[in-house]
Formats: sequence, C-alpha cells, structure tokens
Amino acid sequence: MDKAGLRVTVWGENLHEQQDPAVRAIYPDGMHTTIAAGIRQHLGADASVVRTATFDQPQHGLSEAILAETDVLTWWGHKAHNRVDDGVVERIHERILLGMGLVVLHSGHESKIFRRLMGTTCVLRWREAGEREVVWTVSPGHPITRGLPEVFIIPEQEMYGEHFDIPQPDELVFISSFSGGEVFRSGCAFRRGRGRIFYFSPGHETHPVYHQPEVRLVIANAVRWVGTVSFQPSSRINGGHLFRPRIAEGHSHTNENNPPTTPTLIAAPVPNCSPSTPPSRIPSVPDAACATVRLA
Ligand code: ZN
Repeated sequence: MDKAGLRVTVWGENLHEQQDPAVRAIYPDGMHTTIAAGIRQHLGADASVVRTATFDQPQHGLSEAILAETDVLTWWGHKAHNRVDDGVVERIHERILLGMGLVVLHSGHESKIFRRLMGTTCVLRWREAGEREVVWTVSPGHPITRGLPEVFIIPEQEMYGEHFDIPQPDELVFISSFSGGEVFRSGCAFRRGRGRIFYFSPGHETHPVYHQPEVRLVIANAVRWVGTVSFQPSSRINGGHLFRPRIAEGHSHTNENNPPTTPTLIAAPVPNCSPSTPPSRIPSVPDAACATVRLA
C-alpha cells in the first residue's frame, strides 16, 4: 500500500440502474456510487482516492492512465459482460498479475476478467426469489472478517448455489446458506501472479444489499486486504523489465565429472521495485467461535 493511501477504482456496469426504475429507486446514483461510499466510510484516510468508472465511459472508464493509478479495482457487472472491450480486460489482467487487487462482486462471477483469472466457466446455480441469505464466517481471524459478527443475515437476496465452477480458492472466508436449503462459497480469495483477488457474492441489483452495514464492511475489508501487495510497475509502461533473468556462468559445460545442472536464474530487480508482500496465511483464531449462534 502506498503510504499516502490506497487508490481505489469502483467499476459499475450501471445499466440496470438506467433501465430499471426498481433498481434506480434503490440506487438513484448507481450501485457503484453506493459501493464507493461504503469504501470511503470505512477506509477513511487509508484510501487516498476512491473513484468510480462505468461501462458507458470511453474505455469503460479504465484507461491505461486510470489503471496505472489504481491499487484496487472493484467490479460489478451483469448484462454487458460480453460487450466489455477485450483490450481493457487484457490491461486489467496484466495489472493484476503485477500486483493490483481485484474485488469481484455478485454477478461479476461471469465477467471476462474473472473467468480469465479463474480459467473455468464460473457458472453457478441461481434463483431470483428474494430469499434470506445467511453469511457464515469460516475463517475467523482473516482480515476480511475484521469487525464482523460470526454470522449475519441478508434479508432478501438472489440465491446463488453450488456447484460454483471455480478452482478451489486459496482461502475460503464465507459460506452462505439460503432459505431454500442451498449453500454457496460466497467469499473466496485467490492469488494470481502478485495480485490478490476476492470474490464476494451478495449484491443482486433489486435488493438494497450494498446499503447493508455488514456488506459494506466486508467490501471495505476486502479492498484493504487485496490492496496490501506492493505494486510493481508494468514493463509496458516504463519500458523496462521487472526481472532480467540470466543463466549463471560456469554451468554450461557438462561431462561425466560435471553432470548437467539446472541453469540458475538470477533475478535482477529493477531499482525502486520493492519486493511483493509474501502471501499471508492467517491462522484461524480459536476463540468463542463455538458459541451458540442464534439466527434472528
Ligand atoms: Zn443477480
């Protein structure tokens, strides 16, 4: 994280809000604006910039200059997944591998960028019936759960259920259950390259999910967590290379007394590139987690 604070770009497709009065009634300024407000509320001075970008803007509001000034990108999309420009997706992907954090929300599970990062279809089971969702913490002590109750309820949500076609997450933080009986891995953390990725499923557009305090705290915690990897400047931007691998001298000649050796790659980091933060494996904290939980 930059000492001056995280630079966050909240991306919203912003089409349901324009086309559906029921959605506009819940999010008159767009879901992205509500999500951004929640991040500002919780990060305060820890975020130097929380800007928004939308599908209709040139380059979807995600020009190379904007992404170069983004430490964490959040993504909510649904009906325009296939119309998102491939060049923009490529740019985002490259940036994530170099250390930008990504928080993917709800129907963003089928976005081009998430499917590319996962390498699977990312399809899931779903039902729009305004059902109660219960979000269970399964990694107590994980930074994304900070300040949250062990379990909280979203009164009305679209059901998302298993099987969710993703690789096994590096860390599973939340599991949700629904009044219909389904369960879903609703909070999943991944690493790709230097970048951290968090998927959080609550957030159907016809329910006021992003106004709910617990959901806003999850997203803010996730932004902070995925943003803790030091960013490495892109070789495409600075014209250099992150590492200049070369084969160590003295190991190229082989014979019976000098068997083949594996060439040694010596990394020569570019000045001003700080090493990335090692992956965090935060152990679960044994505490009152076994206490009886009562659902309202
Ligand atoms: Zn939905």
